[in-house]
This record gives sequence, structure tokens and C-alpha cells, in this order.
Amino acid sequence: MTERIQDFLRNRREDGRDNEPCLVVDLAVVRDNFQTFARALPDSRVFYAVKANPAPEVLSLLASLGSCFDTASVAEAEMALAAGATADRISFGNTIKKERDIARAYALGVRLFAVDCKAEVEKVARAAPGAKVFCRFLFDCVGADWPLSRKFGCDPAMAIDVLEHAHRHGLEAYGVSFHVGSQQGRTQAWDEALKSAAAIFRGCAERGITLSMVNLGGGFPTKYLKEVPAVKAYGRSIFRALRKHFGNRIPDTIIEPGRGMVGNAGVIEAEVVLVSKKSESDDVRWVYLDIGKFGGLAETMDEAIRYPIRTPRDGAEVGPCVLAGPTCDSADVMYEKVPYDLPVSLEIGDKVLIEGTGAYTATYSAVAFNGLPPLKTYHI
Ligand SMILES: *Cc1c(COP(=O)(O)O)cnc(C)c1O
Repeated sequence: MTERIQDFLRNRREDGRDNEPCLVVDLAVVRDNFQTFARALPDSRVFYAVKANPAPEVLSLLASLGSCFDTASVAEAEMALAAGATADRISFGNTIKKERDIARAYALGVRLFAVDCKAEVEKVARAAPGAKVFCRFLFDCVGADWPLSRKFGCDPAMAIDVLEHAHRHGLEAYGVSFHVGSQQGRTQAWDEALKSAAAIFRGCAERGITLSMVNLGGGFPTKYLKEVPAVKAYGRSIFRALRKHFGNRIPDTIIEPGRGMVGNAGVIEAEVVLVSKKSESDDVRWVYLDIGKFGGLAETMDEAIRYPIRTPRDGAEVGPCVLAGPTCDSADVMYEKVPYDLPVSLEIGDKVLIEGTGAYTATYSAVAFNGLPPLKTYHI
């Protein structure tokens, strides 16, 4: 929570514009985060994962700082271009692409594509002849609060075949990628993944194909309730792992931070709509906010991400609450399995601040479910 955000919210309240929940992102924090990544991993190029927060203000700030962009669709690539990035600073990192979208990205100048199977290689070879491809391999994501395993990537042994297939189809077999899982708390996760990456490099070399790039993915955490290691610790651990597995032939590297770039830059202000109990004898209260799973807090699914919540009554005695959203869907409950401690004096109408919400919130909010508008956002 920065002073700039506090001032902004105070003015908004004074102007009576605080009728609906909103997300406020402090761009100065995003700038700091970019520089922290650049210092911690000085030899890696930063490809910001656009999906985390594609606001034009965030993209143009990062473009001006020299960031590259990992995009998952033609629309995201267009947003990065509109923000001032050139096409050579854009990757199409989604392993699941329509062939006509590959062609559109190629027409925009994009020359770097992710693949994880031969069928995708063939699409890229037809629609983006001669482009660079990297093959994503599977990683089990132990230690991540928001795992990205199984859906993307292939077995490391298969990655060698996929890259050879790319080479045979006239593409440049450029390297490999992995994702250690989002909100990864273990700095050593990269060590395990880089062991597989080095094995793929060796396997390709045996077939006469020289790979040159490792895409280290995202996964760098934001501090929510639990402490997390500093970016510097991730940088050191990654550098050690590169040395260990690649010796003195360290490949070019890319990082794709999403959450770690913008998560801590944002705060959502929401309002308590109702505090109630299901029976007089319950000691757990139900607290309903004007934002929930469909209003931007989708990552509370399975209670995976637990946001810090501040109230005007912090410091007072607390008690357990089920925290729920405002919509008429019973799935719209954020925390129930593990109740959330909030002040017992919390009242209807209180404003609460949900911290660490700069990533994966606004774009997840529904268009008009129950007539509720999408989350208002301000980038200051
Ligand atoms: C979502 C995503 C990222 C960003 O992950 P974070 O955990 O938010 O840093 C990076 N790379 C790829 C391919 C992704 O899909």
C-alpha cells in the first residue's frame, strides 16, 4: 500500500466516486519491480507476461524501460505493439494457437513461438516459415500456490523429438522453456527444471542441433500473507543452477515475470455489504463484500491465493469469517475451508483494502454477471 494509492483512494471517497469496488495500481512500484528483476538477473532478457495485467499504462511503462513481452494471443501482441514495443521484442508464448493466429502474428513481425508437440510445430512451420521456436517441457510445479503443470509442455525426452521436427521443417530450433508454477516459493525449483533443460540441450546436440536459449518462465512470487524470498535470492539460485547444469556454456536466458512484476503494485478497495450468521450459535460470521470470484478475485479458487485484507478496524479483536462475494452464485465464496480472521467489530459499509491485487484480477472480472460491471481500474 503506497502513499500515492492512499491519496488516490481518499480523493475518490471525497468526490463520492467510491460506489463500486476498484483496483488502483501504482506504476512507480511496477518500475521498481522491473529494475529489481533487471538487477537480480542481469544476463536475462525480461519478457513481461502480458496476461498478468495488460493495462496500456503498464505496457507502455515497461516498453519504455526496455522490457520485451510474452503474449498469448494476437490481441496481446497488438497491445504490446501499441504500447511501443517492436515486434522483435514480442514472443507468442502460448503453446495452443490457431494456425491463422500464428499467421497474423507473423504478419505483425513476431518471429518467436512456443511449441510443445509436433502438430503445433507443423502449424508454425506453415504459418511462420523460418521462425524461432522453443519447446516447453513439463514441470511438476511442487511449491507453487497456482500450479501450471500438465496443461502445457511435453515430457523432456519428447521435447528433443519436437525440436528435431522443427529443425526438419525449416524452423530455427532455438531452445526450451518451462514454468515452475505461479507463486513459486522455492528458489531451488529452477535448479530441478534446468537439469531437464540441459539434458534436452545434450539430446539435441547429439542429433546435430545446437540450442541456444532457455526461457526460465515466470513464477516469481508476490508477498501475500506469507513471506516470500526476495527476487535477488531467485537470481542467485538461478545463476548457480545455470552454472551447475551448463558449466561455462551458459545459454541465453529469458524470464517471463507476470505476478512478480505487478502483483504488489495493486490494491483493491471493496466494501462490506453484509455481516451475518447462519445460526445464533455459530461463531463463524459470514462477511459479504461487493467483490468476489466473478469480480476479479478468481485466484481465490480452491483458496489458492490468500490476499492480505486491511480494514479500518485493524488492531481490534479478530474472529473467524467466511468471506464471500456479492453475486447469486454459491461458488462465489473466497475463503471458507480456512476461515479468514477479521475484526469482530467489522460493520456493513466498512471499506476494506485487498492488497497484492495488481496481477490476475481486473481481466478476470466478468462483463456483467448479475448486472455488476467489470472491476474499475486506475493506473496512477
Ligand atoms: C502466465 C505465464 C507467465 C507468468 O507467470 P507468473 O507466475 O505470473 O510470473 C509466464 N510465462 C508463461 C508462458 C505464462 O503462461
